[in-house]
Amino acid sequence: MCQESPGATTHRRSHQIAVSDTLTFTTPGRVPFSVEFMPPRDDAAETRLWNAAEAFHDLGASFVSVTYGAGGSSRRRTLRVARQLARKPLTTLVHLTLVDHTRDELRAILRDFADQGLTNLLALRGDPPGDPLGDWVPTDGGLNYASELIDLVRSEPGCEDFDIGVASFPEGHHRARDLEEDTRHTLAKLRAGARYSITQMFFDVDHYLRLRDRLAAADPEHGAKPVIPGLIPITSLRSVRRQMELAGAALPAELERRLLRAAAGDEEANRPAVREVGIELTTTMAERLIAEGAPDLHFMTMNHPRATQEVLHNLGMAPAWGPQWGQDAVR
Ligand SMILES: Cc1cc2nc3c(=O)[nH]c(=O)nc-3n(C[C@H](O)[C@H](O)[C@H](O)COP(=O)(O)OP(=O)(O)OC[C@H]3O[C@@H](n4cnc5c(N)ncnc54)[C@H](O)[C@@H]3O)c2cc1C
Repeated sequence: MCQESPGATTHRRSHQIAVSDTLTFTTPGRVPFSVEFMPPRDDAAETRLWNAAEAFHDLGASFVSVTYGAGGSSRRRTLRVARQLARKPLTTLVHLTLVDHTRDELRAILRDFADQGLTNLLALRGDPPGDPLGDWVPTDGGLNYASELIDLVRSEPGCEDFDIGVASFPEGHHRARDLEEDTRHTLAKLRAGARYSITQMFFDVDHYLRLRDRLAAADPEHGAKPVIPGLIPITSLRSVRRQMELAGAALPAELERRLLRAAAGDEEANRPAVREVGIELTTTMAERLIAEGAPDLHFMTMNHPRATQEVLHNLGMAPAWGPQWGQDAVR
């Protein structure tokens, strides 16, 4: 049961703004932006995360999200980091997956989140641990689809004020047979009570626009809920290739060619050139997304703030940063 645990009342209902509200309380002429963080694995990563959190706090991120991994220690880190971010204060969206959890465990986690005032939830299924592209193996007594997690939250006393988001996939989820099936399942999550979706990273804005059109055409009420584009400013060809592989997708051939040209056979030596292509691409995509009325720009930062800050600067949304400016404009 998602009810308050004794002694938790001081943190409960801790004035977190609902993420779905950040999409509507916007300043005219200014598109909000938000960022994704990963829970750190070691001390160096911990320092990097908190430097990034300071930077994005100063730059005015409308919300920050924290990913959820497999394994107990990773999960504890997610909760700890989300709690600390919320207290900065930053509007904090905590991810939760079904992997290796029974229903009762999921309820206990939801109770923990509620106790800490973490009422912004990204409801996800997650991927099989080990091989993310392997077969989905249900946990005994667990759930199978993100839509069931939304039902679970909705049926728990004490969790009524959770503001729920879900994942959406501009090119379709790799397990869906076709885009029609993908649309049906994404809509099921929105109908179950999700108020918005955040997309998987993509590199062709047309894919995002088609997803938005598909959803709105299939259901003018729930399908018209905000679709937040997930953007990743590429700074390394190797790591973006790996991320795409894990997501069951591939880099568009033309983009890969541009990145390979910039890397000129030695990615390490030519990192600045690769980074320049990535930042220019994300800037161009963001300009078009803003023109097309995207409700927010969500940057997958890998806990590094500067590439995102450069994109924001190019968009006129942040002070400059970079060696050519001589100093950091933010902490
Ligand atoms: C913005 C974003 C953030 C993410 N954060 C994390 C994270 O923090 N941790 C992590 O581990 N992963 C994360 N992921 C990855 C995500 O967990 C995987 O992409 C996963 O494979 C799909 O999750 P889902 O919530 O979309 O699943 P679901 O919506 O449950 O869909 C899973 C698959 O089942 C199909 N399906 C859905 N409902 C049904 C049904 N009723 N019958 C038959 N088929 C159905 C769907 O079409 C899809 O192919 C994130 C993804 C995105 C886009």
